[in-house]
Amino acid sequence: MSDRALRSIVVVGGGTAGWMAAAVLSRFLPPPQTSITLVESEDIGTVGVGEATVPLIRHFNALLGFDERQFVAETHGTFKLGIEFVGWGRPGAVHFHGFGDFGEPIDGVSPHHHWLRLRQLGDLEPIDDWSFPYAAARRGRFAANDDDLFSAPYRYAFHFDAALYARKLRTYAEQAGVKRIEGRIVDVALSGDTGFIQSVTTSGGVEVSGDFFVDCSGFQGLLIEQALKTGYVDWSHWLPADRAVVVPTSLAGPPNPFTRSTALEAGWQWRIPLQHREGNGYVYSSRFTSDERARDVLLANLCGQPLAEPRVLRFTTGHRRKFWNRNCLAVGLAAGFMEPLESTSIQLIQTAIARLIEFLPDRTFDPAIAAEYNRVTANEFARIRDFLIAHYHPSQREEPLWDYCRGMAIPDSLAHKLEVWQACGRVPLLSEESHQEPSWVAVLLGNGLIPRRHDPIVDRLSPEQLTALMQRRRAAIAEAADAMPLHQYYIDRNCRMP
Ligand code: FAD
Repeated sequence: MSDRALRSIVVVGGGTAGWMAAAVLSRFLPPPQTSITLVESEDIGTVGVGEATVPLIRHFNALLGFDERQFVAETHGTFKLGIEFVGWGRPGAVHFHGFGDFGEPIDGVSPHHHWLRLRQLGDLEPIDDWSFPYAAARRGRFAANDDDLFSAPYRYAFHFDAALYARKLRTYAEQAGVKRIEGRIVDVALSGDTGFIQSVTTSGGVEVSGDFFVDCSGFQGLLIEQALKTGYVDWSHWLPADRAVVVPTSLAGPPNPFTRSTALEAGWQWRIPLQHREGNGYVYSSRFTSDERARDVLLANLCGQPLAEPRVLRFTTGHRRKFWNRNCLAVGLAAGFMEPLESTSIQLIQTAIARLIEFLPDRTFDPAIAAEYNRVTANEFARIRDFLIAHYHPSQREEPLWDYCRGMAIPDSLAHKLEVWQACGRVPLLSEESHQEPSWVAVLLGNGLIPRRHDPIVDRLSPEQLTALMQRRRAAIAEAADAMPLHQYYIDRNCRMP
């Protein structure tokens, strides 16, 4: 260990972000060489939502050595093959963003080009028919694939109780030597010379000093904003949703192996099934509806029985001007927030922690390291922002929120993507792109953006050859999905909650 290596790291906050950070730090910098302390306040609590994930989380769990079935049981989880979007492009329309592509390329060309030609020939079946995750999801079927996490033919993620996940991570981290301090932080001391954070002090008078601070204190950004005054990049003009009303309900049937997202007058509603209950929320823009109306709309659209009073959460879409400022890195809600339309928040926590390990500073805190971290992370946020806007902007819905989103000027980076897409059916991917071509294809086609032409190589097949080939593929997908166990059966056999 170099004599400049970090000696002590303080994580502020014990929500999903705080315990994910503490667990990974303890894995890579095992105490006591580096002391890791986490301070949290049970009185303040956590945000208490965040139940849908993306496949990347499987890598995170694997890194910590979590057995997948045990993890699903312990967090009362279910499996997620993708997201079903209801009423997004226009009322009544349904499309699916599955974790996987639409089949292997044909003659080196992505299959959606073949689908575009098929459509031109008069076959109007949705592209979802060529998605294996969708075929399984709509049959309510699921089986884990134990192949390599990246090369598997389809991928999956989880729905889980985030509080139980944090508890599991806490057990892991404490066993690895992370010290937990219970208490409300009331003071943050900065160095008079450098402005670096020196210590935090709880209301009980406990002072915790450190070389490096990870701010996981939630929306308020206790260190990054309140102490360091970093500033915020506000994206609400592009993503106007700024509130969510949330309520858990009883299950109305066997849990679906997918998240459902239903477009509503001033936003959209999620349904996230766990083993014992369902998470529900209506994400909306306060410019286009009231809290009372949002609450009524949510309650009118529930399938199960409410298990608690609905509660409203407020947020501002965007991110800190710097994620890493001096000796403080903001992770989770303290770093920024975009609505949970594609379940990207826990993913962003995971990539932030991975990037911290990659760019681990020493006590010289070379500013070039923080600058690079900030550049990459800002790009990552902007790409997800564009992807989310692409869900709203093309919609033909007529309510005022949707009118606004259709008419607004979109970021140049997204405008470029859409132009290229419409011209030739290709998606120009930029650096730090979280969503690859099949995801963009699912969302753009699903929202009714049909490119003007397909890849000309596709025309080398005769119409008869193309039709026969595509029909064979569709039938093979249906047959394979039919052979899978029901999702509920798979859970009961492998990962039933205690
Ligand atoms: P929090 O959960 O708010 O935790 C903050 C921590 O800081 C707590 O432990 C608190 O006690 C502590 N703290 C705060 N102040 C102090 C203080 N003064 N002293 C001591 N401790 C303090 N993400 C997804 O990936 N999928 C989803 O489906 C999803 N849905 C969401 C829906 C909504 C409506 C919202 C708002 C968020 C959603 N998210 C989702 C995001 C997800 O909930 C968060 O990213 C995740 O829970 C991480 O939160 P956090 O740990 O950053 O903050």
